[in-house]
Amino acid sequence: MTTRHGINWDKAQALFAAERELFAARRPRSRALSQQAAEHMAFGVPLHWMNDWSTPFSLYVDRAKGARFRDVDGFDYTDFCLGDTGAMFGHAPEPVAHALADQGAKGFTAMLPSEDAVWVSRELARRFGLPFWQFAMTATDANRFVLRWARAATGRSKVLVFNGCYHGTVDDVFVDLVDGRPRQRDSLLGQVYDLTQHTRVVEFNDLAALEAALADGDVACVLAEPAMTNIGMVLPEPGYWQAAQAIIRRHGSLLVIDETHTISTGPGGYTRAHGLAPDAFVLGKPVGGGVPCAVYGFSAELAARVQAAKRNAPPGHSGVGTTLTANLLAMAAMRATLAEVMTDAAYTHMFALAERLAAGLRGVIERRDAPWCVTQVGARTEFQFAPTPPRNGSQAERILDSELEQVIHLYLLNRGLLITPFHNMILVCPDTTEADVDRLVAGFDAVLGEIT
Ligand code: PMP
Repeated sequence: MTTRHGINWDKAQALFAAERELFAARRPRSRALSQQAAEHMAFGVPLHWMNDWSTPFSLYVDRAKGARFRDVDGFDYTDFCLGDTGAMFGHAPEPVAHALADQGAKGFTAMLPSEDAVWVSRELARRFGLPFWQFAMTATDANRFVLRWARAATGRSKVLVFNGCYHGTVDDVFVDLVDGRPRQRDSLLGQVYDLTQHTRVVEFNDLAALEAALADGDVACVLAEPAMTNIGMVLPEPGYWQAAQAIIRRHGSLLVIDETHTISTGPGGYTRAHGLAPDAFVLGKPVGGGVPCAVYGFSAELAARVQAAKRNAPPGHSGVGTTLTANLLAMAAMRATLAEVMTDAAYTHMFALAERLAAGLRGVIERRDAPWCVTQVGARTEFQFAPTPPRNGSQAERILDSELEQVIHLYLLNRGLLITPFHNMILVCPDTTEADVDRLVAGFDAVLGEIT
């Protein structure tokens, strides 16, 4: 018998084969669409990542509402993936759907602001505590623009990231620590510049390494998630951010906090909940209720430096912005989301469910004697294939097991339960119920019963 992360790998492989057959046999419509898709879409899908799910071919969605969606073969699912955070507050929330319908009758995009822009920027300042804001279409773009602003404002060329981070498809951040040395990520396609020239990388939770990497005084900014969520989950140790912020400030670098996932911590993100004081703040994905848009904020001091940098630059392309940025539809979606969807009441509901979920998963892990653990950032929960949570990106990377994940994910999917691919992230939304959570815990128990 082969064991892997405490489970019987022979049984897991047999189960996976059976689950793939089950999936394929019951979904003639998704299969037919996948075959047609191969005719005119490279990779057979709109985005090549969509081939990396656990299913033998794409699961085609018919409709999605709240915590649920239906596939084109008529099967219903409870969605704990929620578009990998884009629909973190549920699919097609009513206030956003109404706002889009209203705005849809009044224009989509004009490259001019609407009244909503004023309301949204005021609300962002109130909610997140940074006084000045700009907009983008995706979190990727927001991060890319913030890096540009940070370099322009400081006149420094380097950026610093944490090993194992993900901030979207921003070239600068694809540098890993391999045997303690920075190395450009091998998987990155078509990159012809040596990214290690201007990107430093250190382990999360290592204050001495951070201090050393900033000591030369040439780092424009540290770009970080306050808790790492893209390599499994890595939480900051107690006191880490307080000390890290002091170090960053002492070396004249800026702190950029990317809250795109950690907004699960609360209505003001991890930043508000834990009293962080970043110079810049990024939020994408759910800020428009699933409509493409993103925001980034500046402290008053950084805003002044950024505006001076622009003022002092020759006229012409700044390298910041896209034509559809801050379009009328996106602004209406953000206003509705911030006013009526990302509310304190929504978070209260989600926190209680996440607690129930984490307790349920821990109970199963204990009963099934699996050497695994459960980590949480507010309404975001992750089970990880190690007895204790990882402290940094290297440890987190070592315990990832995409093959084992796929066995579990596909078993759950065949039973109407969707969790996030590429690791084991589970989201609950305002429409998720206790019964939904209990069904997921029961499914998790059943799959562990099959493979332990
Ligand atoms: N920042 C973080 C922390 C993310 O997790 C992601 C996506 N997973 C992004 C940025 C990029 O988001 P998008 O793909 O929507 O640009």
